[in-house]
Amino acid sequence: MSTKLRMFTRMMSSSTRVPQVCIVGAGPAGFYAAMRLTKKLANVHVDIIEKLPVPFGLIRYGVAPDHPEVKNVINQFTKVAQQDNVNFYGNITVGKDVTLPQLRQNYDAVLLTYGAEEDKELGIQNEDARNVIAARNFVGWYNGLPSDKDLQVDLSNDTAAVLGQGNVALDVARILLSPIDKLKKTDITQHALDALAESKIRNLYLIGRRGPLQVAFTIKELREQLKMKDCSTIWRESDFAGVADVVANLPRPRKRLTELMLKSLEENKLKKEDTNSKRLYPIFLRSPNKFITDKDNVVKGIELFENRLYGKGNVEEQKCVSTNEMELLDCGLALRSIGYKSVSIDEELELLPQGMVNNDKGRIWDAHPRLAKMYAAGWLGTGPVGVILHTMGNAFQVANMMYEDLSKLPRSRARGGFEEIKRILRNEIVDWEGWSKIDRYEIEQGKKMGKPREKICDIGKMMEIAYS
Ligand code: FAD
Repeated sequence: MSTKLRMFTRMMSSSTRVPQVCIVGAGPAGFYAAMRLTKKLANVHVDIIEKLPVPFGLIRYGVAPDHPEVKNVINQFTKVAQQDNVNFYGNITVGKDVTLPQLRQNYDAVLLTYGAEEDKELGIQNEDARNVIAARNFVGWYNGLPSDKDLQVDLSNDTAAVLGQGNVALDVARILLSPIDKLKKTDITQHALDALAESKIRNLYLIGRRGPLQVAFTIKELREQLKMKDCSTIWRESDFAGVADVVANLPRPRKRLTELMLKSLEENKLKKEDTNSKRLYPIFLRSPNKFITDKDNVVKGIELFENRLYGKGNVEEQKCVSTNEMELLDCGLALRSIGYKSVSIDEELELLPQGMVNNDKGRIWDAHPRLAKMYAAGWLGTGPVGVILHTMGNAFQVANMMYEDLSKLPRSRARGGFEEIKRILRNEIVDWEGWSKIDRYEIEQGKKMGKPREKICDIGKMMEIAYS
């Protein structure tokens, strides 16, 4: 923000009360909320505080590199950040560099959109074995998340297993099975590309606890997998017993998805020979019991329990129960993809078992009415499920509620906003101009390699460029 505008805003804050809003987390929820708030309230001031020196959360560090079209929302977010009454302040971790109560003292409202940064664990034996890796870290590794850049991934075995059947699981499978020439043209990090070019993985098991009628991946992702060059998707016929009988009565999106799986199963049966060099094996109704390891504590297989589904009616509500029947699956890499969960950044915040912060439609209840109100949106508020479109809808809804509250602000309480927070901070801040320098640098580096961008994976290097 220009000095002129900052003075103007401060003047306004002591006379006509420009509401000062702090958003914690520069992912889609943060940007969509800022977009809605600044549209509804002409005289609001929004500061977006982000842990990393770079914005966009899982758009940058989650969305698969071969899905560039999904990342186009970045253009909208850039326009939001360039508004005179919006600031981006990167390289500030709330809960460490500044506390939540300190933010609440200096703003009129604090919206928490800091996502879900941890992954759920299976809680089974040998989960800490080498080459048992959280999909979250694997995704961070190929997408350039600084904390995952040194992840040790051994791709020298020909068989891998992904535990989970959501879209993240399919993303991970696709990256492991894709022809390397396709990945070369994306913004996948060079260290991942080099490792994947040497990968020996030819078989990948995609293991789900429940049946084909309950899979969590969506039709678009499955279609993409089925069309993959040099890769066959091999279904187990026994997993589909009775499925064709119920398909007609399923709700539409599930019906189309199930029909596609059945069609692929039938096509496989008609195929005379399979000349593809890679194979994806979706496996249903199996729960991991333990990882089998070798003498060096490297994973070499998974013991799976067979499951049965119980209950009639809505297939989504059927209960899954493990039997005593066991199956052993050999693999040299296992990726756990069973979901994300949020962390608490302050003792005031209560986390629920669903992996989200306790809130009522975005409002966080607290015992300190004299401090700014707290809100939650995005994966932190809804739980770590849903695509960007859901996150957008939720962020808009919470921002509408904030607008109602801010419209009723008492006239007397002027807040210091980021001017006061700056006095507390000891670290260097990256503003939008700093991020723009990083952005330009990454695009330039990418151009030299025939990629849309080559991400910087080191925070020190990011800071150097932002301050150059
Ligand atoms: P996030 O995007 O996680 O943003 C949270 C931000 O808060 C981050 O920038 C983080 O650094 C910051 N932060 C964390 N802690 C702090 C702190 N203490 N202080 C300050 N800042 C902090 N959706 C689609 O529509 N299409 C896809 O192809 C797609 N692919 C996905 C792939 C993966 C692997 C994952 C996990 C999700 C994918 N999604 C996709 C879903 C989509 O990414 C989410 O809906 C969306 O990112 C949630 O937004 P959010 O703002 O709540 O969280």
